[in-house]
Amino acid sequence: MRLHARPSVRFAGQITGVEGYVESAAHGLVTALLFAADLSGAELAPPPRDCAVGALWSHVTGGHRSPGGAHEPQNVNWSMFPPPAPGVRKHDKKRARVLRAIDSLEAWAQQSGVALRATQVTADSLPASSKKGGGKRRRARSGAREDQQR
Ligand SMILES: Cc1cc2nc3c(=O)[nH]c(=O)nc-3n(C[C@H](O)[C@H](O)[C@H](O)COP(=O)(O)OP(=O)(O)OC[C@H]3O[C@@H](n4cnc5c(N)ncnc54)[C@H](O)[C@@H]3O)c2cc1C
Repeated sequence: MRLHARPSVRFAGQITGVEGYVESAAHGLVTALLFAADLSGAELAPPPRDCAVGALWSHVTGGHRSPGGAHEPQNVNWSMFPPPAPGVRKHDKKRARVLRAIDSLEAWAQQSGVALRATQVTADSLPASSKKGGGKRRRARSGAREDQQR
């Protein structure tokens, strides 16, 4: 994210290849932290790829580009994250990835001396699995169909 000819110049936001308001702001935050570390002579690793800011960082630094392929600006999405651990059931994948992202971001912040506000997302606050919600949605849809048929 630096100008090759003048590495003290850093870029952030859509100009680097992220897309969207939240993504541009998140990317700007990481760039600012790296810049602040530079100024204080500290070493700061970019956030890990299994949390959203790290997945975006990996995306703009070429993590998903096929060799010789052009960069495509993107909103943050699950394809930027590493797959969940083997053995996680399909309908538990998103939940597993959210919990892993929180753990990874917190570990990175702690190692890096970055202050985080406590998250309100916990294992208990997340639905047990998406299958349950899907079941509810399916029941709601089939109920709506029955209403139409009446
Ligand atoms: C029509 C439209 C709709 C969109 N809708 C959505 C949406 O619904 N949701 C969403 O998440 N994203 C949306 N986006 C994308 C979103 O706007 C951008 O991803 C985001 O604003 C990029 O933020 P940024 O800070 O990187 O760049 P920008 O918001 O483009 O900010 C760059 C700033 O730099 C200034 N600037 C440029 N050159 C210079 C210069 N030489 N000197 C000083 N200042 C300069 C510009 O004036 C500008 O204020 C939309 C974009 C468009 C065009």
